[in-house]
Amino acid sequence: MGIEFRRFTAVQERKLRKALEEVRTNPRTTQLPPDLLSMLMLRLAKVGEGEYVGITFRGNDARCSEGSPLTVAYGLGHHNIFLCAKAFAEKDRAEALTATHQPKRRLPAILFHELVHTCGGNEVDAETFENCVFGGEGATLPDMKDLKERFSEVDFKGRWVEMNRRTGKVTRRDTGSLLITFSARRRREK
Ligand SMILES: [Zn+2]
Repeated sequence: MGIEFRRFTAVQERKLRKALEEVRTNPRTTQLPPDLLSMLMLRLAKVGEGEYVGITFRGNDARCSEGSPLTVAYGLGHHNIFLCAKAFAEKDRAEALTATHQPKRRLPAILFHELVHTCGGNEVDAETFENCVFGGEGATLPDMKDLKERFSEVDFKGRWVEMNRRTGKVTRRDTGSLLITFSARRRREK
């Protein structure tokens, strides 16, 4: 058991291994809810240990053009993550690359987001923890407009977190502590 890569090039596999190691060693992961953290670590365990996760390259899937850099299928017992070529891009948009903007590597944040889904997290869980752990390091911060467009009623309550639709405040369901506030205004990371 462990993580299996499918249909990636050797270069992409190296990038994936490095990104997964960054997920595993990011000091901010220790602040995750304990059950999420232990599930995550089971998925990131060395080959031969832990839970199976399949990560598959999906090429330049047409769905990438909808704004998401990847498509994903997940569910308990189905730990499959599908990545498209954009997940490996070192910046979000060409225009973001100026003299003052370093290229942004999105891969660790994307992998982390999808791993939260494989642990049973929904979209608000994945978006919240992606931004708590990889904020400023490749996470994309959604705004309330994005979320209201993408989320149905049930999506605002996750397995671990809950979002106030009026204020954008996201709190942990077990401790009630405030994790992040999603802004009402468009504030995309560039
Ligand atoms: Zn997601």
